Amino acid sequence: MQQTTVTGYCYPPGSSNRKSAELCIYENTYELVVDERIVKSGDIHSLKFSDRIGSINRKVFFDSGTQFETPDNESIDLLLANTQHKNNSSTKVNKLESSWTIAIASIACTALLVFGFFKFGLPAAANYAAHKIPVSASEKLSEGALDILSKFLFTESKISKAKQEAITGRFNHYLSAIPDTGGFSYTLHFGNMNGIANAFALPGGDIVVTDALVNMTTDKELDSVLFHEIGHVVERHGLEGVIKGTTMAVLVTIALGDLSTIAELTTGTATFFLQSSYTRAAESEADDYSLSQMERLNIDPIHFANAMRKISSQSGRIPKDDDRKEYLSTHPSSASRIEKAIQRSEAYNQR
Ligand SMILES: [Zn+2]
Repeated sequence: MQQTTVTGYCYPPGSSNRKSAELCIYENTYELVVDERIVKSGDIHSLKFSDRIGSINRKVFFDSGTQFETPDNESIDLLLANTQHKNNSSTKVNKLESSWTIAIASIACTALLVFGFFKFGLPAAANYAAHKIPVSASEKLSEGALDILSKFLFTESKISKAKQEAITGRFNHYLSAIPDTGGFSYTLHFGNMNGIANAFALPGGDIVVTDALVNMTTDKELDSVLFHEIGHVVERHGLEGVIKGTTMAVLVTIALGDLSTIAELTTGTATFFLQSSYTRAAESEADDYSLSQMERLNIDPIHFANAMRKISSQSGRIPKDDDRKEYLSTHPSSASRIEKAIQRSEAYNQR
């Protein structure tokens, strides 16, 4: 009896722990062998094979959710052809890919698609993906980014330990009182950022406030800024920005078939916080989150308006040609944001 053996890896259902495995084919039946033990067997037509795309690893899907993965595209193509498997058409796709005429014609289409994707699809896709990324993954991403930022951006905080503890105490108290914090575990950090008043949140829940911000605000004003930052985390604005910023790099990486450099996403996260800003829509969403939490916790929303005012006037004192990153470059302020907080305060005081 003729036998084909394809070597690769086996992933149990829902797991990323892979084991070396062999897929053995005898005419129309298969056996999946792990550690010299047959773990699955059956009709080859009950399996689903992924399409061939260049030299990317081929996947074989079993009914139970188990997956088998192999770089041996040639053997898979051969056995699909020999068994006249329904996924055999994928071989044709690959043949089309090899044809230069069609390849050249498709470049024009691809260019159009790529343009459309970055112009229209990416923001929507980033938003979607940002909300699909597990909390644990986004915490991992932030860990590395925080290291990088604290190395290059901050010096040690000069705020007294007692004051830091008081602020952290309020921060943790409020967190326990807010019903939805998105499942993240939050940590507050203090740092000196060259005398600049700033606050920002990393996607995993690390929130950094600078000494200048602590010194210029009252407790309630500072808390209102912290609520705003928590809002960015809950609404996953940082992740969205990172995804938008790194998608291009990731697409190139995938195209080249080397997935190991995806670890560089961490650097991407740090870069995003140094260079980019949130969109107006994201700022407005974080403002709404802050104002709603303040109302819920019986804090007058006017404190957010006052905090914004103080921070805005600080930015006015920084010369325009100074390329230091001040609060407003990451938090574009406007009279309308302050105005909204004042209106919410009026409504709050009338209730
Ligand atoms: Zn913001």
